[in-house]
Amino acid sequence: MQLKTILNRIHKFKSFVYGTIRWVEDAKEPTIEAELRPRANSQPICSECGGKGPGYDRLPIRRFEFIPTWGIKVFFLYAPRRVDCPTCGIRVERMPWSKGKYRLTETYAWFLAGWARRLSWKEVAEAFHTTWDHVFCSVEMAVTWGREHRDLSGIAAIGIDEIQWQRGHKYLTLVYQIDAGCRRLLWIGKKRKVKTLLGFFRWLGKERTRKLDYICSDMWKPYLRVIAKKAGHAIHILDRFHIMAKLSKAIDKVRAQEARELKEKGYDPVLTKSRWLLLKRPENLTEKQETKLADLLQYNLKSIKSYLLKEEFQLFWSYKSPYWAGQFLDKWCTKTMRSKIEPMKDIARSLRKHRPLLLNWFRAKGQFSSGIVEGFNNKAKLTTRKAYGFRTYHAAEIALYHALGALPVPKVAHEFF
Ligand SMILES: [Zn+2]
Repeated sequence: MQLKTILNRIHKFKSFVYGTIRWVEDAKEPTIEAELRPRANSQPICSECGGKGPGYDRLPIRRFEFIPTWGIKVFFLYAPRRVDCPTCGIRVERMPWSKGKYRLTETYAWFLAGWARRLSWKEVAEAFHTTWDHVFCSVEMAVTWGREHRDLSGIAAIGIDEIQWQRGHKYLTLVYQIDAGCRRLLWIGKKRKVKTLLGFFRWLGKERTRKLDYICSDMWKPYLRVIAKKAGHAIHILDRFHIMAKLSKAIDKVRAQEARELKEKGYDPVLTKSRWLLLKRPENLTEKQETKLADLLQYNLKSIKSYLLKEEFQLFWSYKSPYWAGQFLDKWCTKTMRSKIEPMKDIARSLRKHRPLLLNWFRAKGQFSSGIVEGFNNKAKLTTRKAYGFRTYHAAEIALYHALGALPVPKVAHEFF
């Protein structure tokens, strides 16, 4: 069987045929070149409008990289025709294996983008003897295509989250679809301001915004304001993940401050190395940690009081009726306000202020478990962390859509794995 036969089986074109296929003798790496030429009497197609026109002239031969095979690099060689288009003037013809100025064939770009979902971009570049830039362009192409072709109908529930990226306090706002049947990253915006989220609703459009039933978010004020203004009809839920994260943060603050005070007063450093004890759920503690926690609990410390308040608050989520959950919340807030622990009092104040939104969790019957947004949050952090190569916002954006967007890919006649 000849190489040409194989190529025709897996990668055939309507208006182009394979010509000579040869081994390149003086290449650095084993290389095969396959010539392409237009089918006899075929007219070139204008790359701009897609219309046919008479040929004008031919450009020099260009090389387009195809998927390597058996450790051999494969290139297509083709001298593009220029078409005298009645609408656009003289333009380069459309070539079905390549788009725009890319030096990779589209098939190869999809192949690399597929691997870039499983490996880091650097690893993909190494594995296929190509460059980071080629991998990036491939992923960018896949993301652009996927975003253009994704189905945005039926979005009823969204979750709004933010992650820190790069160093310092730089944030990205991420909006996820969290419907039971379809969970994916929908949109990314810079920072976490009013303007950011307004950008999301502008992108979503009025029609689709009207169809939103549930919106989950944290208590970040700019988000609350925009949601109330743009989607007041939807049930707005303050989600469990973000609230418990806030409580953990408060405990951390109390503990750090108290540890410092104790040290200054010359007491035993009982609180050092206790950070994880106080942040973990009791059921996740090791035996040794359990013993240490039991020791700690004997001290009448603010950190311990805060810890117990947080553990008590877990009960809140187990209620079924919004009414009784509300009663519990009120009692918990009163108790916490009497604790004289400022960071905890701050939390109680803001929970009180957002009481109706908190109780919406029960109106939605807990169907949007904290796990969904939390899971996405972890993956998003991992993606941006893995990507220290991303110096630009654009690259981070592309990586996040690629990893979390559940974007569609085109159907092809032959799967290249
Ligand atoms: Zn044209």
